Amino acid sequence: MILPLVYYGNSFLRQRCLEIKEITPEIKQLVLDMTETMDANNGVGLAAIQVGKLLRLFIIRPVLEDEKGEAILGEVEVFINPKISNPSQETEILSEGCLSVPGVHSEVERPVSIHIEALDLDGNKVSKDIQGFKARELMHENDHLNGVLFIDRIPTQSRKEIESALKMIKEKYNS
Ligand SMILES: [Zn+2]
Repeated sequence: MILPLVYYGNSFLRQRCLEIKEITPEIKQLVLDMTETMDANNGVGLAAIQVGKLLRLFIIRPVLEDEKGEAILGEVEVFINPKISNPSQETEILSEGCLSVPGVHSEVERPVSIHIEALDLDGNKVSKDIQGFKARELMHENDHLNGVLFIDRIPTQSRKEIESALKMIKEKYNS
């Protein structure tokens, strides 16, 4: 089932999400619905809070390269109660967008690599070093669990450039 998204301007997105104590059938169904919702909106990542669930859970579709060097989407990966550590000193500036902030893209500076620990949907512990665009996807989604949006991480000047677009989203989706 495609779920309704929560958009920028809704203070719900600014909350801190709660730990998942048990991976219930409801959580598994939520992940299926989130996957359908993400794909229907052409997203590559979605956090539970973006569909109205205050849970420390997000999914991503890693953006990979095929033999020809063209971007392809990988299998959905589920991260439950994630903890990110060891951000690299080296950073990179790349454009990001967000299904909760439709139509807005802006460059965000983030570490190139991180370490992540989490549970997968079967409750198995995941512990990995991740780099490149996938690390960025994980950091973007993990921010959602703490009420942070990518637009909070861009310099004041770029923020001014998207201010009118943000205002429009606020009016369009939250009235
Ligand atoms: Zn997002």
